[in-house]
Amino acid sequence: MMRFENQVAIVTGAGRGIGHAIALRLASEGARVASVSRSEKTSQSTAEEINRTRVDAARAYAVDVVDHAAVQACGAQILADFGRIDILVNNAGVTRDGLSMRMSVEDWDTVLDTNLKGAFSFTQAVMRSMIKQRSGRIINISSIAGLTGNAGQANYAASKAGLIGLTKSLARELASRSITVNAIAPGFITTDMTGVLPDQIKEAILAKIPLGKFGESEDIAAAVAFLAAPEAKFITGQVLTVDGGMVM
Ligand code: NAP
Repeated sequence: MMRFENQVAIVTGAGRGIGHAIALRLASEGARVASVSRSEKTSQSTAEEINRTRVDAARAYAVDVVDHAAVQACGAQILADFGRIDILVNNAGVTRDGLSMRMSVEDWDTVLDTNLKGAFSFTQAVMRSMIKQRSGRIINISSIAGLTGNAGQANYAASKAGLIGLTKSLARELASRSITVNAIAPGFITTDMTGVLPDQIKEAILAKIPLGKFGESEDIAAAVAFLAAPEAKFITGQVLTVDGGMVM
């Protein structure tokens, strides 16, 4: 079923991991995709992968989401290239883990600026066009760390909890224009981000997941497709947890 035919989706952090799976999933259901990541290499490889199955369905944009002015320019370029923007998935994110006692203010700023301010900046870059067309879907990739907190991740958990506040506020601001804004809180998903964790920590996490396995990027992509679809038009301001039952 081509649920996203004639729709344009922006996916940040589309170069790898969860964002890559989201970009492929939306494209597989007919969306044209703006593949955004920090590096040209990864944003392009995702766009090329999509274009191999459908000519001209994707374009690549390399932008640092921390740079507010660059993000505004990128949003304007995407609008000029595609003519409309229907779906924005704020997925770009980083970790800089460490106990608060020793955390550098640089690590605090990098995580907050990327994960939280980056989502705000990209939303500002697209909301005017969504308001004009009186439709749109904004989906922010939060984390269960934003719901429960996590020792060693004060910066990351704060950024992900902040995304939930951003989501609910935007949902209220944009509801009258039929734009929905929701968040997804993934649990432990196997990607580069989690690949660096020591085996001991992975085993401790696994023991806490009722479904007994780690998630895959495609599990998050499926939740994004659900919230982005026309049928989800009455869902806004929500946080959908996709974590194998870890938090309930
Ligand atoms: P990942 O494999 O590390 O990929 C992160 C992507 O974000 C990359 O494409 C990267 O670009 C992009 N990115 C990072 N900083 C950026 C910046 N400043 N500007 C533009 N793009 C930037 O991470 P992931 O595991 O797929 O995670 C994706 C999202 O899900 C993140 O927000 C993460 O917090 C969230 N999440 C992940 C998990 C998990 O278990 N994996 C759990 C909960 C939430 P480059 O390719 O150019 O480096």
